Amino acid sequence: MIVAMPTCRGCKDEVDTLVSVTVGGKKVKLCEDCADRAREEGEIARESESVIQGMMGYKGRR
Ligand SMILES: [Zn+2]
Repeated sequence: MIVAMPTCRGCKDEVDTLVSVTVGGKKVKLCEDCADRAREEGEIARESESVIQGMMGYKGRR
C-alpha cells in the first residue's frame, strides 16, 4: 500500500507535516522550514523601512 506523502511546494521534499501559509495572498502548503522562511521574508518585506531606520539609528549611536 502506497501512501502519498505530502510534498512541500518550496523545496519539493516529501515531508510528514505541511503547514498552510499565505504568501502574496495565495495559500501555499510548505514544510515547516519553508513556512518559517516565507513568514520571515514576508515580515522583512513589510517591515523593511523600520528595519533600515533601526539600523541607521543604531549606527548613528556609535
Ligand atoms: Zn520545504
